Amino acid sequence: MSHLCFLNGTAILPDRLLPDAVIVCRDERITYVGTARSRVPASAKIIDAKGGYICPGFVDIHIHGGGGADVMDGTREAVHTVCQSHARHGTTTIFPTTSTGTDDQIHAMLAACGEVRDTGKTDCGSKIGGVHLYGPYFAKGKTGCHDESVCRAPKAAEYRRYFDSGIIGIATCAAELPGAAAFYQHATKRGCLVTCGHSNSSWNEMDAGFKRGMRHVDHFWCAMSNVSSVRKRLGVPMQGSMLEYVLSNPEMSTEVIADGMHLAPELLSFAWRMKGSKRLCLVTDCNRALDMPPGKYRFGPEADGSWFTSDGQVGWASPGSLASSVMGMDHMVRTMHKLGNVPLQDAVRMASLTPAERTGIDQQVGSLTPGKQADIVLLSKTLKVKQVHINGERWSPSR
Ligand SMILES: [Zn+2]
Ligand SMILES: [Zn+2]
Repeated sequence: MSHLCFLNGTAILPDRLLPDAVIVCRDERITYVGTARSRVPASAKIIDAKGGYICPGFVDIHIHGGGGADVMDGTREAVHTVCQSHARHGTTTIFPTTSTGTDDQIHAMLAACGEVRDTGKTDCGSKIGGVHLYGPYFAKGKTGCHDESVCRAPKAAEYRRYFDSGIIGIATCAAELPGAAAFYQHATKRGCLVTCGHSNSSWNEMDAGFKRGMRHVDHFWCAMSNVSSVRKRLGVPMQGSMLEYVLSNPEMSTEVIADGMHLAPELLSFAWRMKGSKRLCLVTDCNRALDMPPGKYRFGPEADGSWFTSDGQVGWASPGSLASSVMGMDHMVRTMHKLGNVPLQDAVRMASLTPAERTGIDQQVGSLTPGKQADIVLLSKTLKVKQVHINGERWSPSR
């Protein structure tokens, strides 16, 4: 039995900051969170937070790649590289996210993620909470930087085999596609967070989806409908869109890419004020260019994914058209807090506990709470990642 104790820092709890915190862990679990020095076992190894923050490891439900690899490359090596690159940014649980791809490419990705998850070694970096089946069930015209030639409507014979992998925790489909209702119902039965994205759906289509278990919308404001886009598709009278549906339904959650490049500060702040920190997640939606030099990269599979350019700040599909982010979750938390003017404990909750709750893994991870896995990140006073602990072990990059 080994004890680990974090001292001399401010703990970031879901609803408040706790100065002078004492966090005790035994083996891989957190056993105490408070301020009593008397709770530090004599044999404990002390970790000094040096006046910074003691933060729960981040949980990212929308993540394509990092460190030069995309999870759609479909190899164990690629998934491992992505896990390593995001751990460096304080993310301790990820949901690797499919882009549009062929049936074979999606199966290869699911198998590679399963292999990495099942090795169960924390030196891999971020743990895999599950896969986000994101592409290929997008609406044509709303595919963004994804390859449109392989986007399609959901067919049970195809997606049942994806779910049979047993690793899918989040499932996306555009609500207006034929077969969406059956997809939502099936994904709900499989215990997934069911989401609508890359869609031009109307209020009524959203409501029909909601009745089949859909509860979340991917990257708010990006590749989704608004009143005028629905009007172009369905005519007058003007109808509600995904935007009004999400804002008005308290059961619906959503997510923002808080890199400061996709959405202006007032939209970040607006999303938080409207949905609150229990229904809004921060996501990176990060592609393979994280921690890579500016240049041209493939979005999705290395073999035939569409090209984008990273300028080191964000990805561009073409001038004026974004192709997902190139930043880690630490950057998103800093941006939400500093530019979005959101209190630090709320920004961190949206990057940890809220995504864990929405995906049903909050009994294990997502906050500094006794009984949970000791996934703990030390941040400096300026919120830079200093140390990462996964399952109570200090993690350092292996490559
Ligand atoms: Zn997207
Ligand atoms: Zn994405």
